[in-house]
Amino acid sequence: MRLWFAVVTLFVFTAVAVVWVLHKRRGGEIAFRTSPAPTLASPTAANVVTPSPSSSPSTILSPNPSPEPSVTFSPQPTPEVSPENFVGVLNLIVPVAGIRRDQLIDTFSEARSEGRSHDAIDIPAPAGTSVLAAADGEIVKLFQSERGGTTIYQLSADRKLVFYYAHLQGYAPNLHEGEYAHQGDVIAYVGDTGNAGQGNYHLHFSIAVLSDPKRYWDGTNINPYPVLRR
Ligand SMILES: [Zn+2]
Repeated sequence: MRLWFAVVTLFVFTAVAVVWVLHKRRGGEIAFRTSPAPTLASPTAANVVTPSPSSSPSTILSPNPSPEPSVTFSPQPTPEVSPENFVGVLNLIVPVAGIRRDQLIDTFSEARSEGRSHDAIDIPAPAGTSVLAAADGEIVKLFQSERGGTTIYQLSADRKLVFYYAHLQGYAPNLHEGEYAHQGDVIAYVGDTGNAGQGNYHLHFSIAVLSDPKRYWDGTNINPYPVLRR
């Protein structure tokens, strides 16, 4: 009985396989199953399979590449200056001593005078609080500006970004241009210089993506908030 059962089972399997192969040779789905067909019946399947993929994929694939590049290529300039690109890459510390990441408030898009937008983050802290280097990098410029008051421009280590610290009360002793600051170094103290408003002690901190490190003032600002908040 077992032998009979085995023979019948084998017969049924063979019959199913034959029906399946015949169906595949005639069926319209050959183009989508190119891999199993040649292994089952290589000489004929090769003849049947090759014409159909050439005709159908050309009609299927040709519309796809044309819309895709226009979608993938056009936004490429923006991701370069998107803060998301630097989240988890730039391991910045909060550049004010004693301030935690969760205390930060996103003020990047706030309006400022003369139609400008803020393009920075303000970090309130008591006068004289230590301002820390957010990352390693060269101090390229110590500058007195009308709006920013006492300010620092610091390049990132790869010189692709500039960190700008403004409204400072003063610089750390012996801080000078050309100095390479390390992350966490005290470089200045929180103040209210420039247009901060008297008694409105805070660090104005911005990050800009540079195209030329020599033009450290001429960058595209990215929002420091998601980068600092992580
Ligand atoms: Zn500000």
